[in-house]
Amino acid sequence: MSQTGRSQRVAELIREEIAKLIMHGLKDPRIGFVSVMGVRMSSDLRYANVYVSLYGAESEKKGSLAGLQHSSGWIRREIGKFLRMRYTPEIRFFPDDSLDEVYHLEQVFQEIHEDQKHTPMIKLDLPGVLSDVAGASSILLTTHENPDGDAVGSLLGMYHLLKLMGKERVACVMTDPVPRLYRNLPGAKQIKAPGAKQPNFEVAVLVDVSSLERVGTVAPWLENRKIRVIDHHLEEGQHGASGYIDPSYAASGEIVADMFALAGVPLTPEAAHCLYVAQITDTGGYRFSNTNARSHRIAATLLETGLDVATISSDVFEVISKPKFELLHRVIDRMQLLAEGRLAWSYVTARDLSDAQAKKEDTDGLVNYARNIEGVEVGVLFNAVEPSLTKVSLRSRKNFNSAEFLNAYGGGGHAAAAGATIEKSMEEVQREIIGQLEILLEGSAEGMA
Ligand code: 5GP
Ligand code: MN
Repeated sequence: MSQTGRSQRVAELIREEIAKLIMHGLKDPRIGFVSVMGVRMSSDLRYANVYVSLYGAESEKKGSLAGLQHSSGWIRREIGKFLRMRYTPEIRFFPDDSLDEVYHLEQVFQEIHEDQKHTPMIKLDLPGVLSDVAGASSILLTTHENPDGDAVGSLLGMYHLLKLMGKERVACVMTDPVPRLYRNLPGAKQIKAPGAKQPNFEVAVLVDVSSLERVGTVAPWLENRKIRVIDHHLEEGQHGASGYIDPSYAASGEIVADMFALAGVPLTPEAAHCLYVAQITDTGGYRFSNTNARSHRIAATLLETGLDVATISSDVFEVISKPKFELLHRVIDRMQLLAEGRLAWSYVTARDLSDAQAKKEDTDGLVNYARNIEGVEVGVLFNAVEPSLTKVSLRSRKNFNSAEFLNAYGGGGHAAAAGATIEKSMEEVQREIIGQLEILLEGSAEGMA
């Protein structure tokens, strides 16, 4: 219960500094009148629990606490500047009513740990995430299942960045094998399947994904561990984790490119190759609605390393493997148009995959052909992964938010491209989703008329 001399000193230093920062440095308008009552360090000095008295009405108190939590990444960096500890403690704010319980400190930490599982992801800014990750001596990087070019490219971009920053222990783990298309990315051989032996790591970074539900068999390794998120999907993020999610980025690879700049690490051709592939897959070669001026600025910095754009683009966009070509043939053959041509859908079955000797990755992008048809606003592809497990991919144009639509089915993604995996037969899922979409799209036509 009693803190050691060292942790008491650290706690006191942090208390003083936070009090100063609150007085002079914090700009969040939500933060009202607060005073720092006490700081308790966890026994390993990794967490500083800061107890604050909040004044005003309930809503003002809530606002202050939210503002403080929001600023915790910045506060931590400020503290890191003067506290020359190998590892700057993470700052967590608590209302001081919980101070009464500090006497049962162990219990409090237990509860904090439990609580964490239920607390929404803490949002950090990009320098905050970078300093957290760069402050760790061993790092595990992972990304989402069914990895696409942005998943693999941003993961490897992060790997190159950390290696260039001198990190020796960086493990890359992915639940699926690297798709054939991305196997020639520099560093791809570093990506391992989660085998029996779990690497030691201080922090796990989820790149291009924000939830443990989408990292497949890597998830059990990450339960109750320190997790940082770097993602651009329209999502809230993993409970108990903290990180940076910014849907204004067209690709997670773009966020990683900005991290190179922030870290002052010059891009190498290897890293740029990975990040370029991340960008071109998620922007469809700078054509999708997520593409913006920043995308092109980032592209320029990537190209300055001397990339062979023609070969890279041709590998990603033009070359179709024979199994994929066979699947494409079937998907197009079965394409159906509904809702007066505003909806197009098709499907692949497990049988198609075995007939074509195709892999899961070969279905990637087939859904785009549905949306490509003139007049189509929403394109859908169903993939019967197992008899009672169906993957749905949606692609839409401006007036339809695919991620929002699939949220109801436990899926997500972006406004123009989203997916979900549903535990029902393909026939059932087709009936439900196509039925819903027909109603919505016919409704939207009336609305527009
Ligand atoms: P695709 O249809 O190509 O698999 O996925 C399109 C987009 O939606 C990608 O950004 C992908 O990461 C996201 N996505 C695909 N499936 C899921 C899912 O089951 N859950 C969530 N949250 N996002 C998904
Ligand atoms: Mn992405």
